[in-house]
Amino acid sequence: MSQPPVIIVGAGITGLVLAQALKKHSIPCIVYERDPDPLYRGKGWGITIHWALNSLMECLPRHISDRLPEAYVDPEATRNGDNGQFLFFNLRTGEALWQVPPSKRIRMAREKFRRLLMDGIEVQWNHTFDSFGPADDGAVRATFTTPNGTHTAEGSIIVGCDGSRSRVRASLFPSPSVHENYHLPVRLLGVSTIYPRELAAKMRALDPFFFQGGDPLTNASHWFSFLDSAETSGRGDETRDCQILVSWPHRRGFLGEDAPLDVPAKSRERVAFMKRVASGWADPFHEIVQSIPEDAEPKTISLEDWVPPNDQWTNIPGSEHVVLVGDSAHAMTMYRGEAANHGIMDVESLLSAILPALKTNDGGLGECLREACKTYTKGMVERTAPAVLKSRQACLDAHVYERINDDSPLIQRRAAAVQEPKLVEPVLAA
Ligand SMILES: Cc1cc2nc3c(=O)[nH]c(=O)nc-3n(C[C@H](O)[C@H](O)[C@H](O)COP(=O)(O)OP(=O)(O)OC[C@H]3O[C@@H](n4cnc5c(N)ncnc54)[C@H](O)[C@@H]3O)c2cc1C
Repeated sequence: MSQPPVIIVGAGITGLVLAQALKKHSIPCIVYERDPDPLYRGKGWGITIHWALNSLMECLPRHISDRLPEAYVDPEATRNGDNGQFLFFNLRTGEALWQVPPSKRIRMAREKFRRLLMDGIEVQWNHTFDSFGPADDGAVRATFTTPNGTHTAEGSIIVGCDGSRSRVRASLFPSPSVHENYHLPVRLLGVSTIYPRELAAKMRALDPFFFQGGDPLTNASHWFSFLDSAETSGRGDETRDCQILVSWPHRRGFLGEDAPLDVPAKSRERVAFMKRVASGWADPFHEIVQSIPEDAEPKTISLEDWVPPNDQWTNIPGSEHVVLVGDSAHAMTMYRGEAANHGIMDVESLLSAILPALKTNDGGLGECLREACKTYTKGMVERTAPAVLKSRQACLDAHVYERINDDSPLIQRRAAAVQEPKLVEPVLAA
């Protein structure tokens, strides 16, 4: 019998790594994506692949992994063996306090990476996953909404790679109290802007890729990262595209205000607010934020996460052929820069679980595949539930300056190790 395809929902990093990996093993798959076309998203942010680098190489076919340097933020720094120090600064004094322990890592421009991963993969654009159900002969059926109506597809399994507010997750766990994300008491504004050579050189002197810091007086937090280099920008000069993030605790007393401060509605108010938060910072952090153009358009990222449950996995008909991968399985804040690393490790774990079943005579429609899905989900939950809580703690610590120390997950080495979850103190939810 001809093998039913693996249905991948979502053409983000994890969905596309999975598609490449399946292709490498000659397993048919179809990627369905809600966006209307590949260019729909903006240029996105930088992304560091560290402890999952070997898994990524394992998943990708050689002709794609050989081309990864095309997506590097700064290929020259990488060629020179400069991995970056990922420093953490006191934003008031400018003192470098910590360095995230170095490891083998590559920093890529997320959208360039995504475009590279699309190479040779046919994506069904404009297909929004709606629901799943059982199909004949042990297969599973996915239903999508398209501009022309409804589309259904049958496959061996459905892999939800549809991001942190996953519809596949919501179909598996219909109760909002189970599938909805936890919202952290932190607010964030971020902007990307092209800085002139002189200013960019000051940040480049600190790190070729990325640094962060905390404000001991207000508990605000700052991230800076380069999104390109002279070699990759295509602008033919030494200007640099820079990403500047400012985040703050959403609680009374911040900046001396009686009520917690929310994200302002209009772009100009947002720029002014970022400058207000950074007003007492030392240079170059002060200069970085004060140099944001008045007509820039800062965006907000909602800081939320989802801890995959150990139990309560559903018995809805068809669900034994549905798994979650990436942010849909374990949405986490980016204060440890690990979510995509876990997503890539999910892909590797899923493959090692399902490949033997998919290569059987029944094309993966039997009990063997259902058991493989269970095995994958169990291992994924054990690895990522603690990681979500660590990233939550890192985000909360970043907004209580006195909490930042060697033991904070904000500073600690990034690693895939399974550890007991830490309890997050509720005092921060004020
Ligand atoms: C500022 C920032 C910096 C980060 N830095 C790092 C880092 O350094 N290292 C790291 O490991 N991680 C980092 N992350 C996290 C990382 O970017 C994400 O974990 C990763 O991109 C998630 O990939 P994904 O494929 O799981 O989900 P997504 O990238 O969200 O992709 C999901 C896809 O599914 C599509 N979709 C959604 N709903 C549907 C639907 N119903 N039907 C069909 N398609 C749908 C979406 O349009 C999207 O294309 C960072 C995140 C942020 C915000």
